Amino acid sequence: MNIQDQISRLSLIEKVALLQGATVWTTYGVEHAQIPSIFMADGPHGLRKQAGSGDHLGINASVPATCFPTAATMANTWNPALGEKLGKALGKEAVVNGVQVVLGPGLNIKRSPLCGRNFEYFSEDPYLSGKMAAAYIRGIQENGIAACPKHFAVNSQETRRMATDSVLDQRTLREMYLTGFEIAVKEGKAKSIMSSYNMVNGTYANESTQLLTQILRKEWGFDGFVVTDWGADNDHVAGVAAGSNVVMPAPGPDCARQLLEAVQAGRLEEKVLDQRLEELLSVIHAVTPEAKEEQVQFDSKAHHAIARQCAQESIVLLENDGILPLKQDAKVAIIGDFAKSPRYQGAGSSQVNPTQVDDLYSQITAAGVTVTAYAQGYDRCSPAPQQKLIEAAVVAAKTAETVILCVGLEEILESEGMDRLHMQLSQSQQKLIEAVCQVNQNVILVLSGGAPFVLPTCAYRAVVHGYLGGQAGAGAMVDVLLGKVNPSGKLNETWPYALADTPCDAYFAEDQRNCEYREGLFVGYRYYTSAHVPVRYPFGYGLSYTEFAYSDLVLTQQGVQFTLTNIGARDGAEVAQMYVSCPNSGIYRPQRELKGFRKVFLRAGESETVTIDFDEYTFRYFDTDAACWQQEAGVYRIQIASSATDCRLKAELTLSGVSAADRAPDCYRNAQICQVSDEDFSRLLGHPIPDGSWHGLLTKNDAICQMQYAKGGWARLVSRMLTKWKDRSEKKGKPDLNVLFIYNMPFRAMAKLAGGMVSEQMVDDILLMVNGHFFRGCGRLIRDFFRNLRYNRRYHRQLRACRQTGEEARA
Ligand code: BGC
Repeated sequence: MNIQDQISRLSLIEKVALLQGATVWTTYGVEHAQIPSIFMADGPHGLRKQAGSGDHLGINASVPATCFPTAATMANTWNPALGEKLGKALGKEAVVNGVQVVLGPGLNIKRSPLCGRNFEYFSEDPYLSGKMAAAYIRGIQENGIAACPKHFAVNSQETRRMATDSVLDQRTLREMYLTGFEIAVKEGKAKSIMSSYNMVNGTYANESTQLLTQILRKEWGFDGFVVTDWGADNDHVAGVAAGSNVVMPAPGPDCARQLLEAVQAGRLEEKVLDQRLEELLSVIHAVTPEAKEEQVQFDSKAHHAIARQCAQESIVLLENDGILPLKQDAKVAIIGDFAKSPRYQGAGSSQVNPTQVDDLYSQITAAGVTVTAYAQGYDRCSPAPQQKLIEAAVVAAKTAETVILCVGLEEILESEGMDRLHMQLSQSQQKLIEAVCQVNQNVILVLSGGAPFVLPTCAYRAVVHGYLGGQAGAGAMVDVLLGKVNPSGKLNETWPYALADTPCDAYFAEDQRNCEYREGLFVGYRYYTSAHVPVRYPFGYGLSYTEFAYSDLVLTQQGVQFTLTNIGARDGAEVAQMYVSCPNSGIYRPQRELKGFRKVFLRAGESETVTIDFDEYTFRYFDTDAACWQQEAGVYRIQIASSATDCRLKAELTLSGVSAADRAPDCYRNAQICQVSDEDFSRLLGHPIPDGSWHGLLTKNDAICQMQYAKGGWARLVSRMLTKWKDRSEKKGKPDLNVLFIYNMPFRAMAKLAGGMVSEQMVDDILLMVNGHFFRGCGRLIRDFFRNLRYNRRYHRQLRACRQTGEEARA
């Protein structure tokens, strides 16, 4: 039966039912029209398929799956082919577990080091993010299923993530926040995409015709389906009209009724509904089991080995005075809780239940290194220094030949649903590093964490960063420490000296409704290199146990060619990066923008001619007035570099094109964007800044935590209790996703996440109570509760009747 036939057999109520989740993880199936239900599960760096009944917030454990390094870690490999291999293995685990849509990869731009979900995202650069995401998507989809890149779009902050409005100018939107998705969609051919919780310039991402139809489908040629983030739906009718297909999780009959009534009242044409169904069904048919061979198991040992290979390539050697690699007969003391109980992934919906977890202590011992002592050093659940633990660590360090000191971000600092407030290590770890470095001259820091932090300036001899290396990360780290693997990871993001140096420090994370992207294009290294702000470790930086020389640059209209030589004594890999700028441009531009890269493996003494081609992204800029991409006429500087601040070769290229001009005020031309005035920002926007402040009464789009401002005393009390609950869970040192989710969730989400128990009308009643009309609201709530129950029963009856009629017609 073709898709048109199937659609023609559906009643209106069935059509509507297909455009929303039937359960937390599945879509609705219609047997008589041969439309199967499909299963979606999280999977940015490993499958999270819940074993029992689904609950989104992860109360029920998930099936064991390989925990690969997180996206932030993998981006340090700068190796899309390896990303594809990871994606393929992950997709296979999905198939084995009956999952048809893997909810990942995540590729939001790391605008600030503080975003709690940075560990799940690839980079501060859209080109690197897009290339890595496209590779994951290809790998996952090689299994005959769908990947679902997320969160589309401009979702770079967790604080009140479901109730914020990302305010930014069109050029920043296109060049910084959409280009990664564009590459992922065009080169990865994603079969689905997840719309984000937030608004973009005043419209919910899921209701934005500009994003979902104009850009995604028409410009980029996306032909899959759009699914909302879990609970991201605001107005389903507006979403469907804008190009969104499925609301998740199971919002219940109230949501279906809104769509049904809109069609019946002529506010939404049925042919739009059919169009959305066609887009959805084309993917459902492509990914359901009949379409491919059944697979029943995966080789968990082989996947563990892939996870280890990924981790090996992602480890970044940040400092080394020659102490590394360690000699095989080295005697080391190991200090730090992470050595025995590793930090290898972040918290939230991406959290995988691993098939096994390696730890550094066991791995290094198994590798034959003599471990003379171990000390825990700090309590990961308590930020205050524990004197006894520090003293024991000092005793272990004093007599040791070499100390491997494992530190980094604790669990509580990296989670979906919250942002960090600072970039410091916990007090306990800072004190520990100082104390250990005072008594031992041979300290090697081994870091864990998915985002930059500030390292105390002490006399350590080497710093190696494993990021969040997944379940096999510790073994990979030992391989690097012992020199079995020559490190080749390069940072996917800049490590600033301090939070105050970051371009959006003054704007992140704002506590009003607006997230104002005032820094414009100056994100990460685009800012630091343009404003000449020194950084601790630049974007694209990472050391090796060997050295590389660059020579003989040849420039053509198609790209660059140069010779790369391994001039050291060890085999190794280098990531050569191509940055482009246009110094005399008529528009404001960063000094350097990544436009290509190649990772090249070379034996000691070996040379290779490396080619990096120009592509459609190399010279374009978004012309805001003409609303299209253009190439500016002018002289372009092409730099071949080993990091964003280490240029090795350069050349100039003159190109024809348009004469470009923009309205950006001087502060953008001078890269002085840390304190952009309202006037300058609105000039960049081309319109006044929308009023994002909170006004008197709470609305359905305000977050629950904002009940602290409620008129109703009882609501303020609930808010205080909620805050206490949150604080208590934070004190335990482990983020509680349920608490964070509820705390930041807007009122409207009650109707979207309660499986039909709460209708939108009931949300309005609750708001009436919150806004000081307790008894009136309460009365209406009771009335609407029963109304909703009656409606739910009728809806399910009607659906059953349709199924029966459909079956009979088929028979
Ligand atoms: C997250 C998504 C995730 C979804 C389902 C949401 O809270 O933002 O990334 O895929 O939950 O677990």
